[in-house]
Amino acid sequence: MTGPDKGALARHLADLIHVQGPLPVSAYMAEVLSHPEFGYYMTREPFGREGDFITAPEVSQMFGELIGVWCADVWRRMGAPASLRLIELGPGRGTLMVDILSALGAIPGALNAAEIHFVETSPRLRDQQHDTLNRAGIGNAKWHERLAEVPDGPAIVVANEFFDALPVRQYVHTAVGWCERLVGLNAAGNGFQFIVADRPTHGANVLAPAVISAPMESIAEICPAGQALISDIADRINENDGAALIIDYGTATSAPGDSLQAVQNHRAIPVLVAPGSADLTAHVDFSALVRAAEAAGVAAHGPVTQGSFLESLGIELRATALRQNATPEQSDDLDTAVARLTAPDQMGDLFKVLALVRRDQLPPAGFSAP
Ligand code: SAH
Repeated sequence: MTGPDKGALARHLADLIHVQGPLPVSAYMAEVLSHPEFGYYMTREPFGREGDFITAPEVSQMFGELIGVWCADVWRRMGAPASLRLIELGPGRGTLMVDILSALGAIPGALNAAEIHFVETSPRLRDQQHDTLNRAGIGNAKWHERLAEVPDGPAIVVANEFFDALPVRQYVHTAVGWCERLVGLNAAGNGFQFIVADRPTHGANVLAPAVISAPMESIAEICPAGQALISDIADRINENDGAALIIDYGTATSAPGDSLQAVQNHRAIPVLVAPGSADLTAHVDFSALVRAAEAAGVAAHGPVTQGSFLESLGIELRATALRQNATPEQSDDLDTAVARLTAPDQMGDLFKVLALVRRDQLPPAGFSAP
């Protein structure tokens, strides 16, 4: 038996380019991450020391527990409905949900109300999520391909490092205007290269004013899928009641720049080399998400930094409580985890947290009033 064919995705992309011409960066990214057979999330083990990257819930249980406390508080402010859809977008290994539920278990009625819904396209990650929940004794989750498939009802939507995987389009500021950046074949036909469309396209009309005026040669990004998803979440909040918590790495204000990056074995590699064998993400433009939320009629709070969010929810107190029963080694690990999640030079500043709630609600925990 041979292993998975590492070149299959590159051949598929080359075929697509032969037929359709150069691909928008968004189409390239969607194929690389989510092709049903050869896509990165379908074939690779992304997470952990042996994988390509480590996410906050995999750093420490404290991350998910504090998000669980946040969810319980939102649930109470909603009037403690008897049934609450707990919807997680892109749950990875399922670790975050297990830690959220463990925190809900300490709040009377909250765990009983929770109905778990995962939105996940990768069958192999669905299997892992299923195993993680089973090991924690949780048996009643449902899986969906898309948010729209989750039945109506009061809901809290949580997404950690999900929006950074949604495809972005890129534009280059040229003498004739903002032209789309595309992925084509190189001259030898054995690899990929970026090219720039020779005419401006309508897509660039939606660029933020601060970006449109950027100098020549600047690159700008938009994430239409992210904005559409925010709009769907906002409709759900307004129609069924609920809230959303979006955590990701990115910028608080729209700025020009090429943030596309490929990460393999914890290191950045060139973006167009070995498609499908490295994670491919882009910084999340939080101000674009805020604009989409406000346009759809919900209140957006934040983004605040992950460090300040976790600190205001009491990460230090939680670490102190866990230290009570910890060995000296475990105690050191807790210190390392707190620093990793909150220190400005680690995940604390780069990662941001955005909350969406109904316009008639007060700012949720972790987002102080302006
Ligand atoms: N939230 C997890 C995993 C982040 S990785 C954590 O913090 O550890 C991104 C996750 O989103 C993976 O589970 C991936 O399979 C899923 N995913 C990526 N694009 C998706 C899409 N378009 N629809 C649904 N799930 C997607």
